[in-house]
Amino acid sequence: ETIINQIAAGEVIERPASVVKELVENAIDAGATRIDIVTAGGGKNLIRIIDNGSGIPADELSLAVSRHCTSKLTDNVHDIRALGFRGEALPSIGSISRLSLKSRVADADSGFEIAVNGGRMDGPRPTGMNGGTIAEVRDLFFSTPARLKFMKTDRAEASAISDVVKRVAIAFPHIRFSMTGSDRTPFEMAATGVGSEGMLERISQVLGKEFPENAIGIDAMRDGVRLSGFAGIPAFNRANSLHQFAYVNGRPVRDKQIWGAIRGAYADVMSRDRHPVVVLFLNLDPELVDVNVHPAKADVRFRDPGLVRGLIVGAIREALGQSGI
Ligand code: ADP
Ligand code: MG
Repeated sequence: ETIINQIAAGEVIERPASVVKELVENAIDAGATRIDIVTAGGGKNLIRIIDNGSGIPADELSLAVSRHCTSKLTDNVHDIRALGFRGEALPSIGSISRLSLKSRVADADSGFEIAVNGGRMDGPRPTGMNGGTIAEVRDLFFSTPARLKFMKTDRAEASAISDVVKRVAIAFPHIRFSMTGSDRTPFEMAATGVGSEGMLERISQVLGKEFPENAIGIDAMRDGVRLSGFAGIPAFNRANSLHQFAYVNGRPVRDKQIWGAIRGAYADVMSRDRHPVVVLFLNLDPELVDVNVHPAKADVRFRDPGLVRGLIVGAIREALGQSGI
């Protein structure tokens, strides 16, 4: 079982940022409105995620860290509203680190803690805490030293973590995020209102106050696929593509087809060594897109890739054209 989990971990957990992504998504799925992230040693020594979500009942803690136990499966596999749905993340993380999961549901007298040490479970036992969940991961990859060798510097791992958090934060402006710890990438993002104004405020928190006045709003629809977001003007560009954000049905994705479409839209107005700053939200019938391609859940497969590409290229070009670029 531990070996199976370690193999699964090899696919789901590539680096500390993957752990942060999974744990933050769990907090979001639990309805948290506040998520605090603490890291040390680029997340290799410590990752702690504190949320004020629904919590896990004491009798479900050991299930939560067991393989393929998810509370999120619906009967329709295409209808994936929750971010997590495989029940793979916690057992995988527990098999390659020292994991502690503390949780308290609203009506419980106390919290409960379960520990998993390189796959060995211990607990649950009572612990004092407020409502919500604290997931703590220490010594990531200690039981798989070969993987540890592939880690980059603390600084590089820490910046990958902050990138993951910012990417997911744009999709959930009503959640307050903070990042602290000995890794020098601290930030705090207050919850904003909902709707497009709140969205723009959150985007400004991530991309800087100057983004909104250097971007053009996008809102287009084709054959049931809705595209909204903001396209930065060509003069507002960056040397790397870290400032391109794409979401499919609210889920952050890094997808080659989407990147290619963005690149194509700007091809005539931006030199090839620069990258436009873009935030795109695609919303479509879940039946028309598969987000289950890879366990890390970053790739998507559209039923009609040509439609999506055409929509993105057309909408961005039109926006740039309207503003006289
Ligand atoms: P998945 O998210 O795919 O269901 P995970 O291994 O990430 O699988 O989590 C297993 C289960 O543990 C979840 O289905 C959920 O019931 C519970 N869980 C994990 N993290 C939290 C959290 N922060 N708050 C509430 N429940 C959680
Ligand atoms: Mg999960």
